Parts: sequence; C-alpha cells; structure tokens
Amino acid sequence: MSLAGKTALITGSTSGIGLGIAEGFAEAGINVVINGFGDAAAIEQERAGLEAHGVKAVYYGADMSKPDAIEAMISSIVEEFGQLDIVVNNAGIQHVSPVEEFPPEEWDAILAINLSSAFHTIRTAVPSMKHAGWGRIINLASAHGLVASPYKSAYVSAKHGMLGLTKTIALEIAQDNITCNAICPGYVHTPMVEKQIPDTANARGLTEDEVIRDVLLAAQWTKKFVTVEQLAGTALFLCSEHAENITGTSIAVDGGWTAA
Ligand code: NAD
Repeated sequence: MSLAGKTALITGSTSGIGLGIAEGFAEAGINVVINGFGDAAAIEQERAGLEAHGVKAVYYGADMSKPDAIEAMISSIVEEFGQLDIVVNNAGIQHVSPVEEFPPEEWDAILAINLSSAFHTIRTAVPSMKHAGWGRIINLASAHGLVASPYKSAYVSAKHGMLGLTKTIALEIAQDNITCNAICPGYVHTPMVEKQIPDTANARGLTEDEVIRDVLLAAQWTKKFVTVEQLAGTALFLCSEHAENITGTSIAVDGGWTAA
C-alpha cells in the first residue's frame, strides 16, 4: 500500500524533529500540514520546500496550548483535504530547573503543549479517520517517557503521560484500522536541545561541553545524536502496512539509553 496522496498533520513542525518528519513524509508523497511558531518568511520557505516534492503543503499556526485553536485547525484540514489520515503529535517545549524553583506556569505550559495537545488533536481527528476506515496516530514521546532525569519534572511527567495516552487510544480504536503508537527518541541535535545545554550547565554546575559529553551523550551508548531522518523513517514505518498490527506500543530510538 502506498502512502502517496494521504494527508498528515505534524504538530510543531516549523523546526527540528517535526520538520524532519514533514520532509520524510513529503518525499513519500504524503500531503503535509505543518504547524508551529517562527518567522513567517522562514515558514513560507519551509512550506514551499515541502511542495517541491510534488505534494500539497499547508501551514496552520494554531497554538497547541489552546484546545479551541486545535479543533478549528483540524476542522479546516478536513474541509480542505477531505480527510486527515495521519497525525503526528510532536509539538513540545522544555524547561530545566530544580523542582523547588520550577515555575508553576512552566509546568502548566509543558503539560498543555506536550501532553494535552495530543489528547485534543486525537479526539478531533479520530472521527475523520474512522469515516475513512484508516488512520495512523504517532505520538512523539521521549526516552524521558520511559526513564527520568533530574530537573525535568514537568517534561518527564508529560512524556510518561503520553505513553499512557498512546496505550489507551490504541485500545479504543483497535478495530477501526487506526493504530496509535509512540516514538521515544534519545537526544536529537535540534533547537530544543541547543536551548537546554546552558540551563543544564547552570543547574548541574558544568560547562556546556561537559553537558554534551557527560549528560546528553553519556546516556546514549552509540555516542551519537539521533537524527531527524532516522525519526522520519521510524514514523514512515509506523504508517506502513507492515506496522498494521503494531499498536499501543513505543519504539525507543535512543542509541541504547533505555536498554541499560
Ligand atoms: P524544537 O524546539 O526544534 O521544535 C518544537 C516545535 O514545536 C517548533 O516547531 C515550535 O514552534 C513548536 N511549538 C512550540 N510550542 C508550540 C505551541 N504552543 N503551539 C504550536 N507549536 C509549538 O524541538 P524538537 O527537538 O524538534 O522536539 C520535537 C518533539 O520531540 C518534542 O515533543 C520533544 O519533546 C520531542 N523530543 C525531542 C528530543 C530532542 O532531543 N530534541 C528528544 C526526545 C523527544
């Protein structure tokens, strides 16, 4: 079964992993809806670059912390494309600090964007998938959905929650030809990781080079960052017919981190 002609929404895809998955999907002939924040001209350039693969690519700037904005975006996508076949819940933010200094508003924002947004996209996208008789839901969790690291209380909680959501939804839609799975990446060199290097250095009293060597890649037994292309490949596999009976599970792409 070819995926060409299907339509995918990738949330938080104006940079990093989301953009990499959008690229991989567009190369496979999938129409893509990108979403996220950033400079308007840069986003337009990314959108046009995706269309260069011969697919339709559109941008919706919905704020994923706002349930109403998510609902409106999904209705518009279904109206524009006729159906929404694939949802990749990828939007996410991070904040690193000891729990006693962790700002409550950062906790709320991380839970809203990293976890609740997936609930809202799923609840509004599933009717279109059921109507079409096929669907794929892919939730970007993290190695931090499986194990913890200090100073990331909100992020680790949200990512563990993402795996619970993945399992529950998978059971509910198992007989509708819709699968729901999570991908748990280790560290990927994206703007999100760039930003947390100085914060982690401050929280742990290390230099930035020490953070890369002794904190980030210390956990990854391959001693290599995961790439966005590897994650796009994993997402495409989960969309393929070979993965039809894979549901409610998570795939760690973490260089062996969570095997140890
Ligand atoms: P990134 O910062 O490069 O990209 C995040 C994207 O989310 C951007 O497009 C940004 O505009 C968007 N975004 C942020 N807040 C938003 C909001 N309120 N509404 C809509 N869009 C919003 O990050 P990334 O590293 O590519 O991370 C993508 C996902 O992968 C996240 O869920 C992250 O937790 C997860 N992840 C990342 C890593 C890593 O090492 N980079 C590892 C494991 C999991």
